[in-house]
Amino acid sequence: MLLYAEKFPAAGELLGDLHQLYVYIDGAFVKGDGARVSVWDHGYLYGDSVFEGIRTYEGRIFKLPEHVERLFESAKSTSINCALTQEEISEVVIQTFRINNIKDGHARIMLSRGVGTMGLDPRNCRASSLTVMAYPFPPVYKEKAIRMLTSSVRRKGPLSVDARVKCSNYMDNILAKLQAIAAGVDEALMLDNQGYLAEATGENVFAVKKNKIVTPYATAALAGITRDTVMEIAHTDGFEVEEQNMTVHDLYTADEVFLTGTAAEIVPVLQIDGRTIGSGQVGETTTKIQQLYKEYVQAHGSPIF
Ligand code: PMP
Repeated sequence: MLLYAEKFPAAGELLGDLHQLYVYIDGAFVKGDGARVSVWDHGYLYGDSVFEGIRTYEGRIFKLPEHVERLFESAKSTSINCALTQEEISEVVIQTFRINNIKDGHARIMLSRGVGTMGLDPRNCRASSLTVMAYPFPPVYKEKAIRMLTSSVRRKGPLSVDARVKCSNYMDNILAKLQAIAAGVDEALMLDNQGYLAEATGENVFAVKKNKIVTPYATAALAGITRDTVMEIAHTDGFEVEEQNMTVHDLYTADEVFLTGTAAEIVPVLQIDGRTIGSGQVGETTTKIQQLYKEYVQAHGSPIF
């Protein structure tokens, strides 16, 4: 596979050119500044929307049916209707990658409650709105190892919105991320309302101890598609893999810690709350999982170009 620098040579410059891309908005592809949504959209006014993020690797789309199915489950759970079927949305996502010639990139699907009058009553909205963007998007931490802190902001599912719903209310996660930034580290861990480990602000968390790989239950954490993939590939490779109730102690005393997510991929964690994790170097198992994940996305992506 290509190295990050070879694969995304122009990513920095392209950020300024994102407005050149075509965006799907409710039935049409719109370019540049035309790609706008209404200020009356309840997704904007109240964060009343659900979403997905999907990657392509060398012209192959990864786990599209799983992402679209999760979108539909998020929509069902929040009672947002979708005018398109799962097959139709999948086709729109593929078309969005194609029209923008994004062979190595990321797509964002947003399904919003739609345009409505003021007031959060969902009945104020006429029809839901679907937008799909595709763009170059290097792994969030650019394949580096990171440092974390434990945030005081809690992940509320399942007491509030169920964590399996990928809804656009990310303010808790953003507040946690702000704490990490203020403390000069890269990312934050979030606990559930009982103090058990939930996940990071945009990734799931795994620990490795004595060759066993453990991760918190997906009750206050999103049931990540990368999380599922990593559990599958680790198990196939002969690792013991288990979901557990975990606390930060399990991370402090682990041999290795890593995060998983579509946008971030597999991210080694070397320090949490000032504690060095394991040897302080990227561990053997994390490196192995990174390699297996790369092989897996190559082997399991569906060609769309
Ligand atoms: N947790 C949260 C809060 C996220 O936003 C994400 C990214 N969508 C993940 C975990 C990872 O999920 P996935 O592997 O499906 O991208």
